[in-house]
Amino acid sequence: MNKFAIVAKKNEKSFLIEQQINRELSANGWVMDKNKPQLVICVGGDGTLLYAVHKYLDQLEDLCFVGIHTGTLGFFTDYTEEELTLCLHDILHHEPEIFRSYLLNINTGKEQLFALNELRIENVKRTQVVDIKVDGEFFETCRGSGICLSTQAGSTAYNRSLGGAVIDNGLNIMQLAEITSIQHCKQRSLGNPYILKMDRKVELTSNDFSDALLCYDHLHQTLDGVNQVICTMSDRCVRFARYREYSYLQRLKNLY
Ligand code: NAP
Repeated sequence: MNKFAIVAKKNEKSFLIEQQINRELSANGWVMDKNKPQLVICVGGDGTLLYAVHKYLDQLEDLCFVGIHTGTLGFFTDYTEEELTLCLHDILHHEPEIFRSYLLNINTGKEQLFALNELRIENVKRTQVVDIKVDGEFFETCRGSGICLSTQAGSTAYNRSLGGAVIDNGLNIMQLAEITSIQHCKQRSLGNPYILKMDRKVELTSNDFSDALLCYDHLHQTLDGVNQVICTMSDRCVRFARYREYSYLQRLKNLY
C-alpha cells in the first residue's frame, strides 16, 4: 500500500502535523490520493476518526485507518503527536496487522445508516416512549429521554457515561442502555444495560418520534415520518492498521 489521505482536526497543531506527514510520505514514494486512499491517517482524536470513517464509508472495504492523537492517547488512535516520527517510520517500513471493528446497521425504513460507536434516539423536549423488541419478541416499553445502542468500540464512549459496561476488545456485541428512564410503581423497565449477542435484531418503535433525534456517532437527523428503527450488527467493518502493540488495557487505563 502506498496511497494515503489525511483527515486532520481543524486546528493549527493538527494542520502542521498534516503537512509534516504529507512531506515525509511524499518524499518516500507514497502518493496522496484523497479519492482512493489505501491508508487514511487521522490527526486529532477519536472524534476525528469517527469523522474520517463516515467520510470514507463507501470505501471501508478498500482502506484502513491509523490515528495520531493530538491530546492523550485514544481508543482509535495508536500514536501521540510526540510519536509522529515513530508513526511515519512504522508506516514506511512495516506491514501492519489489521484489526477489525464492526459497524451497527441502522434501518429507518427510509434509509440505511451505519455507526462505529452507537445509535441513540434522544428526546430532550418531552418523555419519549419507546417499545423495544428483540428478535421480534416484545422486550419492554421504555419511558425516558431515549435509548442508546452501542457497539464494542462505542462501549467506552456515550455508553460508558450512561453506566454501561466497557466491553473487551474482540467481543462483537451490542449493548442496549436506557437514557434516564422513568422508574416508579406504575412504570418499570429493565434499567440496567443489556448486552446482546451479535446476531440479535433490535426494533425500536414509537407512535410519536417527533422532537426526537436519531444520533449516530457524531451525526444526527430527525425522525420525521419514522415510527420504527431496526438495528443489527453489520458485516461491514472499519479496518485499523496496527503497526505496534498497544494493549486494550493500556487504552482503557489512559481513559481515566
Ligand atoms: P466529540 O467531541 O467528537 O467526542 C466527545 C468525546 O468522546 C471526546 O472526548 C472523544 O474523544 C470521545 N470519544 C469518541 N469516541 C470514543 C470511544 N469510542 N471511546 C472513548 N471515547 C470516545 O463529540 P461528538 O461529535 O458529539 O460525538 C462523537 C462521539 O462522542 C459519539 O459517538 C459519542 O459516543 C461521544 N460522546 C460522548 C458523550 C459522553 O460521554 N457524555 C457525549 C457526547 C458525545 P477525543 O477527544 O479523542 O476525540
